[in-house]
Amino acid sequence: MKDLIIIGAGPAGITAAVYAARKKLDFTVITRDIGGQAAWSSDIQNYTGYQYISGPDLAQKFREHLQQFSFDLQEQEGVSRVEQIEGGFQVITSSKKEYTARTVIIASGKRPRLLGVPSEGKFMHKGVTYCATCDGPLFAGKDVAVIGGGNSALDAVLQMVRIANKVYLINIGQGLTGDPVMIEKVQHDPKVEILNETKTVDFFGDQFLKGVRVEVRGAGRDIPVEGIFVEIGLVPNSNCIDFVAKNPAGEIIINGAAETSVPGVFAAGDVTNVPEKQIIIAAGEGAKALLSAFKYLSTH
Ligand SMILES: Cc1cc2nc3c(=O)[nH]c(=O)nc-3n(C[C@H](O)[C@H](O)[C@H](O)COP(=O)(O)OP(=O)(O)OC[C@H]3O[C@@H](n4cnc5c(N)ncnc54)[C@H](O)[C@@H]3O)c2cc1C
Repeated sequence: MKDLIIIGAGPAGITAAVYAARKKLDFTVITRDIGGQAAWSSDIQNYTGYQYISGPDLAQKFREHLQQFSFDLQEQEGVSRVEQIEGGFQVITSSKKEYTARTVIIASGKRPRLLGVPSEGKFMHKGVTYCATCDGPLFAGKDVAVIGGGNSALDAVLQMVRIANKVYLINIGQGLTGDPVMIEKVQHDPKVEILNETKTVDFFGDQFLKGVRVEVRGAGRDIPVEGIFVEIGLVPNSNCIDFVAKNPAGEIIINGAAETSVPGVFAAGDVTNVPEKQIIIAAGEGAKALLSAFKYLSTH
C-alpha cells in the first residue's frame, strides 16, 4: 500500500506531486494528461513569475518540473472508481488496474459541458470540438462558430480570429458576460459576427460537419461552418468517487485544509467547491492538500 495516490496532473495535482516528492512520500500519480485545462489557454498572464506564457508552454514547464523527481507516474490513464478499504483506499483505473494507498488527493479538475443537441455525438471530433487551443489550427482559413457567451467562449473567439476566415459567436443570452477587455476585443474584430439571443438547435452535415442550425426569436437560420467550438462551461470530474460530500454542482466539498468529508481523502483545484477557478489557486490548493495529507500520514 502506497502512502498516497494523486488523481489528475493539472496545476493542482502537479503541485501536490512536487510537494509529495519533496516530502519523500511513496506515491503514484494517475492522470489522463499533464497540464489539464491550463494547457488549453492560449494566453496566460496571471500566473506569478510569468508575465506571459501560453498554456502548452506552461504544461511543458510543469512536465519538466515533475521530471526532476522519481515517482510512479501513470499517464494516459483514467481513474474510474475510488473505494474505501481496510486501512486506506483502492483506486481502479479504466484499464482495470488497481492501486491502493493510505491517502488520496482528488485533483481531477473539470471537463467541458456538452451542448445536448441531437447530432452532437455524430459530429464530435468531425467538426465539433471543445478546445480551441487544441483543435483551432485544424480550421485555418475556414468559417467557424463558437457557442457560448462567457470567458471561455471569448478566449476561443480571440484564438480563432488569428486562424479562421470568419468567426460566428452564437450566444443564447442577451449579451456577453466575460471579462470586459475580452468583450471589447471581440466586439471590435471585423472577422467576428456576434449573434446574441440565438439558440443552437442542431448541427448538420454528412460525414463531417457542414453547419449549425440556430433559432433567433422563433426564426430558423442555417449557418454554414466547418468547425464549431462548444464553450458553454465546465462540469467537475468527480464521478469516480461517491462517498465524499459534494455540492449540487457535483463539486467535492472541502474545508480550508483541503480535507473532504472522509478522513484520508483530500481534494484540490477546480473539482472542489473553492469559489475561484484559476491556475494559481488550483496550484496553491494542491500544495495545501499535500501538506494536509502529509500531516494525516504522520499522525495515523
Ligand atoms: C480555455 C481556458 C482558459 C483558461 N485560462 C486561464 C488563465 O489564463 N489563467 C488562469 O489562472 N486560469 C485559466 N483557466 C482556468 C484554469 O485552467 C483552471 O482553473 C486550472 O487548470 C484548474 O486546475 P486543476 O488542476 O484543478 O484541474 P485541471 O486543470 O482540470 O486538471 C485536471 C487533471 O485531472 C485529469 N483527470 C480528470 N479526470 C480524471 C480521471 N478520472 N482520472 C485520471 N485523471 C483525470 C486531467 O487529465 C487533468 O490532468 C482557463 C481555463 C480554460 C478552460
